[in-house]
Amino acid sequence: EHFDIVVTAREVIDQLENKAEKKGLTIRMDTSYPDPIFVHADAIRIYRVLVNLVSNAIKYTDKGSIQVGFEVEDDMVQVFVRDTGVGIPPEDLDRIFERFFRVDKSRSKESGGTGLGLAIVKHVVEAHNANINVVSTVNEGSNFSFKLPIGQSTAEMEEEAKLELEMMSQDR
Ligand code: ATP
Ligand code: MG
Repeated sequence: EHFDIVVTAREVIDQLENKAEKKGLTIRMDTSYPDPIFVHADAIRIYRVLVNLVSNAIKYTDKGSIQVGFEVEDDMVQVFVRDTGVGIPPEDLDRIFERFFRVDKSRSKESGGTGLGLAIVKHVVEAHNANINVVSTVNEGSNFSFKLPIGQSTAEMEEEAKLELEMMSQDR
């Protein structure tokens, strides 16, 4: 499957913006890539991953902002969701992806949820042959990221098909 991850991120932000605004938070999108970024991935499941990551960013941030962004490197794009929230203690960093694991039981109870969000994120990202990475500092914030392979845009695919046809007709 082939889709523009920038459009997907925009949809996720539109869906969650109200929730963020209620907490006085803004969600920004990294605009250094104004062009579409076509990726080879499962659109619905990657949408779900972004919803889970941005929802967490909103839930575990009291002030500041949330940033969704992209870094294109050769034929890969690194997608990241960064927040200025409570952060995760180093000793819990590899446990947060376990089912039902929550850093602070009492605090998490107030904010609701089951502790499944990141287990799903990890499962989906790994099904795409990628790793989910997290860098976090307590009281400063967290940055979750993963990489996806970039595909061609529809225009590029059409152009390539046209060239191929021309070459085939020359062969004859
Ligand atoms: P659910 O997603 O099922 O509603 P949840 O958000 O508690 O519940 P996960 O998304 O799996 O569960 O996250 C697991 C735990 O990791 C959270 O309870 C929280 O303690 C911690 N965590 C996740 N994302 C962040 C974040 N952006 N900042 C700080 N802590 C986080
Ligand atoms: Mg969650």
